[in-house]
Amino acid sequence: MNDLLEFSNTLCLVLILLVSLIAYLLSRRAIQQKTYYKKIIDSSANIVVVHETTQVVTANKTFFDYFKNYDDLNDFSKKHRCISDFFEVADGYLAPPKDESYWLEVLAQSKNKKHKVKMKINDEIFYFLISASLLDKKKNIYAVILSDITEQESTKQELVSLSVKDKLTNIGNRKYYDDILHEHITLAQRYPHKFSLVLLDIDFFKKINDSLGHDVGDKVLREYTKFIGYHLREVDIFCRIGGEEFVLLLPHTSRDKAYILTQKLRLLIEAHKEVASITMSFGVVEYEKGDDAQTIFKRADMALYRAKDTGRNKVILG
Ligand code: GH3
Ligand code: MG
Ligand code: MG
Repeated sequence: MNDLLEFSNTLCLVLILLVSLIAYLLSRRAIQQKTYYKKIIDSSANIVVVHETTQVVTANKTFFDYFKNYDDLNDFSKKHRCISDFFEVADGYLAPPKDESYWLEVLAQSKNKKHKVKMKINDEIFYFLISASLLDKKKNIYAVILSDITEQESTKQELVSLSVKDKLTNIGNRKYYDDILHEHITLAQRYPHKFSLVLLDIDFFKKINDSLGHDVGDKVLREYTKFIGYHLREVDIFCRIGGEEFVLLLPHTSRDKAYILTQKLRLLIEAHKEVASITMSFGVVEYEKGDDAQTIFKRADMALYRAKDTGRNKVILG
């Protein structure tokens, strides 16, 4: 009987030891696994953050390569609730969200769609591809991954800007004019949106080329483009649509206001006399209901023709 009791005690002890050993091994493994995961996440060139409701709870090393001004996550969390604080408003990029947790939900539910964000970190602009995965529904925990695409986005923007810029004068080209006019016509068709169009053409420009040379002609084009641009408002759009032909799109401007503005410009150009003395003729029209890109241009062109035909250095309302 005693032997049996002793045997069962020993068995119990062995079992306890065995269970403790297994528990120890499991916890060691869990710690090891956690270390491995941390190492894997830290080795990523992407920013990886774990977001819990309205705060970042974990971030990898790459995160601090971008968010350099923060000592650690505590420091970051004291100043910002969410990485979306850094989102910038830009067309085609995720907007700064009004609801911090909701934007993550939307992101996590649309994984098959590519989302991009523009972020301003320490006064530097970055572009990222952004994705989110739900880790814990109850606690509202998300993993967010941001991959830097700044270089690709900048190259793309440069190409777009080159495709709409006139090489000689650096203002918008014909394509830019076409695009912007189309935008304003669409706006005017849907909303009460007023705008005027001015066609500008240098008078007797051929004579400048013939007497002073083509290079001086080019200089004249550059000088007067810069000069006109300097006297325009921020919202006005100025494009070169032909050799010595330009167009001005004046948003929120009636034909009468456009006429006054253009007359001022005409006098300024006449008085400028840099590189060579020139004058310009102008045709001014305002968008009218039913206008399309061709009809509005044709009316402005006819007005310009009348300015040329009746003596040049004139503004004619069409
Ligand atoms: P008008 O008053 O009737 O407009 O006379 P104009 O001489 O200005 O007009 P015309 O159409 O007869 O001549 C335009 C000239 O503009 C001819 C062309 O050689 C010149 N031109 C066109 N593009 C450029 C350019 O990029 N650089 C230079 N230097 N000249 C150009
Ligand atoms: Mg001309
Ligand atoms: Mg011309």
